[in-house]
Amino acid sequence: MEASEVQGEKGLLSVVVPAYNEQDALPEFQRRLDEVLNELDLDAEVVYVNDGSSDATGVLLQAMQQQDGRIAVLSFSRNFGKEIAMSAGLDYARGDAVVIIDADLQDPPELIPELVGHWRQGYDDVYARRISRDGESLVKRWTAHAFYRVIRRLSQIDIPPDTGDYRLLSRRAVEALRQLREQHRFMKGLFNWVGFERKEVLYRRDKRAAGKTKWNYWRLWNFALEGITAHSTAPLRLASYLGMLVALFAFAYAVYVAYDKLAHGNPVAGYPSLMVALLFLGGVQLITLGIIGEYLGRMFDESKHRPLYVVKDYRPSVWGSRASLP
Ligand code: UDP
Ligand code: MG
Repeated sequence: MEASEVQGEKGLLSVVVPAYNEQDALPEFQRRLDEVLNELDLDAEVVYVNDGSSDATGVLLQAMQQQDGRIAVLSFSRNFGKEIAMSAGLDYARGDAVVIIDADLQDPPELIPELVGHWRQGYDDVYARRISRDGESLVKRWTAHAFYRVIRRLSQIDIPPDTGDYRLLSRRAVEALRQLREQHRFMKGLFNWVGFERKEVLYRRDKRAAGKTKWNYWRLWNFALEGITAHSTAPLRLASYLGMLVALFAFAYAVYVAYDKLAHGNPVAGYPSLMVALLFLGGVQLITLGIIGEYLGRMFDESKHRPLYVVKDYRPSVWGSRASLP
């Protein structure tokens, strides 16, 4: 790609950092990242994506960008969410390899040299897998675990468990990802959809350095729904299987009712069984309608073909700006 031709023989590493209200974590993050990048045998740029922060993140990033030519700042017109912020970072990153990392220091920047090492050996997607989740509640750990298992079962693509977005992507993996412009983006699934050579690196996930997480259980639930509906149509089949099961049961029950009437002369059973059957079937029908609705709603969103994000301001690093967007 053209990006790799611009650089000297050293090669350029881009670090993409989505940041939403991270004023407290950013200075320390940049300090630690800077140390790591200085040690690397690569040129580097840091692409901060300010995802419509309402605190001082924007001002802070601007000041940092003026001091350090390696920093690029892309600001959205409003909050678009982390998945889209990462995608924008990939659009604007110029590097031969691109690292995606959180701004809250939960992903230790000190791991980057190891990621780069594997990239140099020819891997395209070097992802960091956490061996511990310090500072996260048991419930969150358990729900995360359950989610990874469900999505692995339901979708054909293999999403490694306990893996976040912290990873290094080769230029060709980035170019492949940039072609996926769907609105409902579940990046963990997309990373795996593009394929290429993948390599796992283990690390300890730290506590948030400052500020607090933007996640709550409702958001996590919706995130899980996105993940499943974006990569699997298995739930749509649920209606057929449930229907078959109910029909089978109804048939057996009809035989029993007829036999009971003929053999024993019992009157047909009345209100309770009718009510149960009615409510059960009503419930099943509403649930399956809801599932169809989930998919239909997503089709509606995709069919509008809106751009993924709106840029308010872009300040490139010394490595220049990316002109062509898909
Ligand atoms: N983030 C973002 N937009 C959002 C929410 C989060 O860019 O709408 C960024 C945030 O600044 C951080 C990263 O995504 O760099 C991870 O967010 P967070 O720490 O809240 O998530 P968690 O680590 O709890 O999964
Ligand atoms: Mg975090």
